[in-house]
Amino acid sequence: MSLLQTFQSYPALFITTVVVVSLAVGSFLNVVIHRLPKMLERQWRAELAEFNGQEAPSEPTYNLVEPRSQCPSCGHRISALENIPLVSYLLLGSKCSACKAAISPRYPLVEALTGALSGYIAWRYGFTWTTAAALAFAWTMIALACIDLDTFYLPDDITLPLIWAGLLVNMGGTFVDLHSAVIGAIAGYFALWVMFWTYKLATGKEGMGYGDFKLLAAIGAWLGWKMLPVVILLSSFVGAVVGISLIVFARHGRNVPIPFGPYLVLGGLTAMFWGDALVKYYLQTL
Ligand SMILES: [Zn+2]
Repeated sequence: MSLLQTFQSYPALFITTVVVVSLAVGSFLNVVIHRLPKMLERQWRAELAEFNGQEAPSEPTYNLVEPRSQCPSCGHRISALENIPLVSYLLLGSKCSACKAAISPRYPLVEALTGALSGYIAWRYGFTWTTAAALAFAWTMIALACIDLDTFYLPDDITLPLIWAGLLVNMGGTFVDLHSAVIGAIAGYFALWVMFWTYKLATGKEGMGYGDFKLLAAIGAWLGWKMLPVVILLSSFVGAVVGISLIVFARHGRNVPIPFGPYLVLGGLTAMFWGDALVKYYLQTL
């Protein structure tokens, strides 16, 4: 029996394989989340120098592969054994093996979230192309949410390819027809653009960034324009609840910005899985 037939015949085996592979992907997402913003910063410094007619600053190689991962406290090189998703964190007791500095729980959390979400996708869509596409979408969304949390920035290097990928995936109607996808991309961008300018003209403040427009455009490209109201309502609602809780319970300053990207990601993923059900439920209740 070929591997393909085996996966078709034994869904549990397929789901397990997806979860194991996704834990490793989660580990890689941690690297992307940590390094991509730094890589972009270097690129901008180099471009700025070139623009000013100066020599680009010479810096040691830094990309997603090099240098090898090391402990941020003591520089201890992380060995392959110390780099097993989830397992290493538990075995090391959440501490660096050399200097005993605490390892951020963010790393295993991202791995666990990636694994769990991917397992759900594999269970839900089975051994199909839809699963492959949904996995790519979910992984990218996780990276975007974390980068936005860290840096208040959603890189074009991720959001724009995500838009094109959504249109490409829907050329075959994977999630919606291409027509809905194209309108979704344009309407997604435009909806937040309008909200941004309305809010800015009314209050003089900027509630979100252009990265958010592109992220919603990407969500529209993947899920179609009909899902946009669901995504906007869900993300605004959760964002408002979390924002108010932070101000009340964590004494988060009223004017400290809160990134909107993670809420869009949450809204987008929720809409992908349960959007149709939510819309149906909503219309019935009306
Ligand atoms: Zn260390």
